[in-house]
Amino acid sequence: MNNAQHILQTVFGYEAFRAPQDAIIQTVIAGNDALVLMPTGGGKSLCYQIPALARPGCGIVISPLIALMQDQVNAMRELGVRASYLNSTLDAGEARSVEQALLCGELDLLYIAPERLTQERCLALLERSNIALFAIDEAHCVSQWGHDFRTDYLQLSLLHQRFPAVPRIALTATADERTRAEIIHRLDLAEAGQFIAGFDRPNIRYRIAIKSNPRAQLLRFLRDEHPKDAGIVYCLSRKKTEDISLWLQEQGFNALPYHAGLPAALRADHQARFLREEGVIVVATIAFGMGIDKPDVRFVAHLDMPKTIESYYQETGRAGRDGEPANAWMLYGLQDVIKLRQMMAASDGSEEFKRAEQHRLNAMLGLCEITSCRRESLLKYFGDTLAGPCGNCDTCLEPVDTWDGTEAARKALSAVYRTGQRFGVNHVIDVLRGADNDKVRQFSHQQLPTYGVGKELTNTQWRSVFRQLVARGYMSVDLAEYGALRLEEKCRPLLRAEQEVLLRRDAGGKTARQQTTTPLPADIDVGLWEALRECRRVLAEKQGVPPYVIFHDRSLKEMCSVRPRTAEEFGYISGVGERKLHKYGAAFLRVINEYL
Ligand code: ADP
Ligand code: ZN
Repeated sequence: MNNAQHILQTVFGYEAFRAPQDAIIQTVIAGNDALVLMPTGGGKSLCYQIPALARPGCGIVISPLIALMQDQVNAMRELGVRASYLNSTLDAGEARSVEQALLCGELDLLYIAPERLTQERCLALLERSNIALFAIDEAHCVSQWGHDFRTDYLQLSLLHQRFPAVPRIALTATADERTRAEIIHRLDLAEAGQFIAGFDRPNIRYRIAIKSNPRAQLLRFLRDEHPKDAGIVYCLSRKKTEDISLWLQEQGFNALPYHAGLPAALRADHQARFLREEGVIVVATIAFGMGIDKPDVRFVAHLDMPKTIESYYQETGRAGRDGEPANAWMLYGLQDVIKLRQMMAASDGSEEFKRAEQHRLNAMLGLCEITSCRRESLLKYFGDTLAGPCGNCDTCLEPVDTWDGTEAARKALSAVYRTGQRFGVNHVIDVLRGADNDKVRQFSHQQLPTYGVGKELTNTQWRSVFRQLVARGYMSVDLAEYGALRLEEKCRPLLRAEQEVLLRRDAGGKTARQQTTTPLPADIDVGLWEALRECRRVLAEKQGVPPYVIFHDRSLKEMCSVRPRTAEEFGYISGVGERKLHKYGAAFLRVINEYL
């Protein structure tokens, strides 16, 4: 057994490395640089934590997420690793004692904020210390293309100049090629070993449903599948986050709003409760997320569609970092398409920018409307391939029915055309279904040849047809004209009967219930599970750390199924290293023995 593996087992309590952790760790231990691209939850932290322990000296971790440093340090200390941090939350005296510890060789890991690290004073301190490695976390912050750009990150190339002998490892979960090239260029990593893991998140189940009654749909999803779990509900507007969180509280959920318009102290409080308490739901705009390093987020729900697949993947990616089953659940409808197109048209950007945005929105719509595996399509978008359908998304679990919508589409297009491309979807459907109302009479639309030719479909079915035609670009919605439908160039072959369309048959409310991801495997004794959770909660509270810092859910589940009775057996549970065995073994064994 080599040194890295020994550390993995005794300190972290894990049996084996996940690919490509081993290769990365060997590269860095040998003193070489590495660039690591791994999806969220892939296990990036071990890639610098273990080399920091294996090499002489202290590992310096550069991270922009100051709010997380305390938790990261706590988690390391729980494992018996000598960790500290230096950032603006420390007073001068505290900072001095951390610096002293570094100089005396009493630290294994030191987290430093980039703006501090690049100060001459700090660099001089590092020069007098013994440094094992530099880990540059969230390395995409160096990219000016990305939305997380930080000026301080640009300075980090000086590490290479000032400390040529110290290996550097840059880590990110951001995939695209341009960002990667920029990281290599700006951080001087041309010689670094590149390690690029696939982007699949197999434990996340992707589901996208048609929005009919969003509150009722959300409530059923939460009650059926996540009655006690922590999760995030994303909404487009600030007001909606407040409305929904209030309403969820009334329904008995522990829900809190989060958006950029709330006072900073309240935001910080809600974020802290999400991290520290169990089963908190945050209802948020996209302002919530960066730096939410919580491993046991069991679901991410979208009540509104994100603008791009990149955002969707990033937001849903916050679920299930611990590798346990998690849900990405989204509702989407015609109104989303209309609203997003509107926001895009109203934005002030160049024509080229708007076209690019439009293109990305279309890709997102494509994902919503596809009838094949969602994961395949998602990964393809990021240039990754899957061997076959995933079996863990809604379209795989409940294959979507399609129907020949050619005739209906032609009727819809023709009704839009005949009414002069001046009316919104509700009125056009009224015309198709032969409704007799004031508006129809006012415009004499009962005299049109398309009047009443669409009685075979219900109102809901017609909305589905229009949604799909808009999503696929056969028609557009003109918002300057109160949502008037307009025909697009693309519809010509369809109108000329040169093309056919297959449409998705939307699952109505009463189709077979989705197979749910039950929060617990069937073989787990709920009583024991709750008792172990309670034990964990009490320990966490006593130490002021989040429960997952004591043990992850995965370790508790394993305790439930393996039911260790002795310290030796307890030591074999995943996530139980020497330190935790010593510190917590007795408490958890007592719970197990009492329960059995
Ligand atoms: P990332 O930073 O890439 O999002 P983390 O480093 O937080 O991911 O790791 C995600 C989870 O996987 C953590 O709970 C971590 O302890 C766990 N993990 C990482 N490597 C292993 C391994 N080799 N065996 C078991 N669990 C692992
Ligand atoms: Zn699938």
